Amino acid sequence: MKAVRRFTVRAGLPAPLADLGVLATNLRWTWHPPTQDLFAEVDRDIWAAVGGDPLHLLAQVPAERLDRLAADPAFLDRVAGVADDLRRYLGEPRWYQRHDTGHNGSRLPASIAYFSMEFGVTEALPNYSGGLGVLAGDHLKAASDLGVPLIGVGLLYRSGYFRQSLSLDGWQVEHYPVIDPNGLPLEPLTEPSGAPILVHVAMPGGRVLRARIWKAQVGRVPLLLLDSDIEENADDLRGVTDRLYGGDQDHRIRQEILAGVGGVRAVRTYCELTGVAQPEVFHTNEGHAGFLGLERLRELVSGQSLDFDQALSAVRAGTVFTTHTPVPAGIDRFPVDLVQHYFGDGTLLPGIDLRRVLALGAEENPGMFNMAHMGLRLAQRANGVSMLHGAVSRDMFGGLWPGFDTDEVPISSVTNGVHGPTWAAREMTEVIGDPTDEGYTGVADSVSDAQLWSLRGQLRRRLVDEIRKRVRAAWLQRGASALELGWTDTVFDPDVLTVGFARRVPTYKRLTLMLRDAERLRALLLHPQRPVQLVVAGKSHPADDGGKALIQQIVRFADDAGVRHRIVFLPDYDMNMARYLYWGCDVWLNNPMRPLEACGTSGMKAALNGGLNLSIRDGWWDEFYDGSNGWAIPTADGVTDPVRRDDLEAAALYELLGSQVAPLYYDRDAAGVPTQWMAMVRHTLSSLGPRIQATRMVGEYVESAYAPAAAAGAMAQVDDFRVAKDLADYRHRLFSAWNRIKVVDCELAVEDNHSPVIGEVVRVNATVDLAGLTPADVEVQAVIGRVGDADDLTDVVTAIMTPTENGHYTTELALPHAGALGVTARVLPRHGLLATPAELGKVVLA
Ligand SMILES: *Cc1c(COP(=O)(O)O)cnc(C)c1O
Repeated sequence: MKAVRRFTVRAGLPAPLADLGVLATNLRWTWHPPTQDLFAEVDRDIWAAVGGDPLHLLAQVPAERLDRLAADPAFLDRVAGVADDLRRYLGEPRWYQRHDTGHNGSRLPASIAYFSMEFGVTEALPNYSGGLGVLAGDHLKAASDLGVPLIGVGLLYRSGYFRQSLSLDGWQVEHYPVIDPNGLPLEPLTEPSGAPILVHVAMPGGRVLRARIWKAQVGRVPLLLLDSDIEENADDLRGVTDRLYGGDQDHRIRQEILAGVGGVRAVRTYCELTGVAQPEVFHTNEGHAGFLGLERLRELVSGQSLDFDQALSAVRAGTVFTTHTPVPAGIDRFPVDLVQHYFGDGTLLPGIDLRRVLALGAEENPGMFNMAHMGLRLAQRANGVSMLHGAVSRDMFGGLWPGFDTDEVPISSVTNGVHGPTWAAREMTEVIGDPTDEGYTGVADSVSDAQLWSLRGQLRRRLVDEIRKRVRAAWLQRGASALELGWTDTVFDPDVLTVGFARRVPTYKRLTLMLRDAERLRALLLHPQRPVQLVVAGKSHPADDGGKALIQQIVRFADDAGVRHRIVFLPDYDMNMARYLYWGCDVWLNNPMRPLEACGTSGMKAALNGGLNLSIRDGWWDEFYDGSNGWAIPTADGVTDPVRRDDLEAAALYELLGSQVAPLYYDRDAAGVPTQWMAMVRHTLSSLGPRIQATRMVGEYVESAYAPAAAAGAMAQVDDFRVAKDLADYRHRLFSAWNRIKVVDCELAVEDNHSPVIGEVVRVNATVDLAGLTPADVEVQAVIGRVGDADDLTDVVTAIMTPTENGHYTTELALPHAGALGVTARVLPRHGLLATPAELGKVVLA
């Protein structure tokens, strides 16, 4: 029998326990151990059976038990204590409130909307596929801890991402269990009458896509999730939010239209309903949600009577875009005619010209619409997610800023972080302290190596227990009988060096690199004195048979009775399994094809628990590896033959594992403690601990993106959008004169017989034809740098030149290098609303 509908849990609680309902629906419980302990006390067996999910617990606890607790003064005291703590957490001033201006004195925004197609807050709300979603979840949690007034916006998928199991021969099998929002920690937004509020989005042919708005509460941060599975929709439109990454391009663009256009409408409604300030800044987490910028253009065009360019100036000012992948196949693109189909008849975004929409997503291929390009064109501030990824993105997207050197492309970087209280084991948090504390350093001096080692052992043992349970369950699921599974009770050894490798399975992550030389891997696993055990997990995209074949290779290797006690593939990697892995692994392995891993965050989560990273220097590890916090697998970057490259890098991996990692791990003092290993663990906890926190990341977004975007957005709007209008006028004037602007002449004013020395201040003069623009309209720069064979300049320094008369400009500047140097001048746009001179992608070179 199946239930037709679930009851809302709160209605079933005895009045004295009402606060349990509040505690169960605010997802702060996911990172607050005292709240978890409180729920565990309600009924330990049920708590364990429901996997630590408070709402499911409350739905299953017998009424008599609740009645008994409602009459137990000690329990009621605890409930009151924890509920008071939550109320304090929600109401008190935190970092953001104590910090009310940005570092340049600008006022911090009263509200910021954060759009993402996935949010991984907890496995109890399965609305994510992998790193991108979990990062978005960590972003919300850290924002909550810091008091940053964020509003999350996304979709609620009825089947989330898929659940993974294995067939007998090791092939990935996907399941799509359907969730019931009524049983999740969600609340619908309703009219005062109780009727659900619906967002409307026009579809071609006069149809309308409607969506209900659910709200999850992530500490202080509301998360709005749109759900199209409602009776008011036609059947095909009900399915828009069925699955994450499940359908074809048409399905996908509908999802993105709902998330972007519908998402803005949902935030507007939410703010009107609750009195929360309307967002001053919109943050687009990856290109998928980029249509949000088009809806905001429409609002300004129809509500404020701006033209498209004026509206664009205002929208850009308040928009932040984060790009997450340098993998071309990872960039979201649609056929132009599909975009035309949805935006062409003018009902979705009245007043917005289709040609302008198409121009925003234009790329090299005229048949494709590129969501990342649109993201960059709609946002004045953009960033990658590690320093290396920032550099790779400047190169990859440099074509949008022709004439500029790669390092001038206005894409910065904010390195990802992870939410400490979510990912550090609670025992570890007690040792490493609370990352939101001002004096947080990462590990208490008072903890001895022996204590830390024993804690690591405890976490490893917990992982081994979990592995045994999961291996057994996986084999039962694959069709084995319980009688032949005795061996699963002894897989893995709590005293053996434990290496973890878990992530999605796109090609660049190279799941099977470790199998390159199967005999060498075997020898490492079965080493008589210094064995290694390896736990592997990961999902392949359902449409990616190549990825599934890689999983099958690992599974087949691990099925071999000769090694199966030392290597396992665990199906159904999710946040729940991930926690055991990050807690218990001694070494976290990552071997992507550099530089395709934008950041990577699983290694950070392992590090928070004292795991050491063994990784290719890609993403975050390129920036954080310091020689004593783990190991860098040498990369064969220059080797173009991928087979040879894999061979070389795999050989380096075996070599490191066998001759450095394992010997260090098994080198023990008299008390059995691996002292040199523990020195690395301690160094990892204290040096990386504070810097890999999501609070550090969100703080950087506040300083480098949210505060300046809010300031620019406010500036654009004053006096009835005077500055936005002025920038639009300026662009028109500039663009029509631009091709006629010329640097007529540029010279270094040095006497003929004088050879200057490094550091000497020299004068540069230039003559510029401004083609009718005024000197106030442009910035003329002198540029000096090393000069190559083709007169190309590198390692340049620049100085702004002062106009004298009749197009003459001059400045002084110190010579930066010795050797052959060259000088030139260039003309750049200048306007108060531009964040950088590169922004308009216009430059005139001599
Ligand atoms: C952190 C995390 C990821 C991301 O890991 P990467 O290192 O970026 O591949 C993926 N899935 C889950 C469940 C995670 O917790």
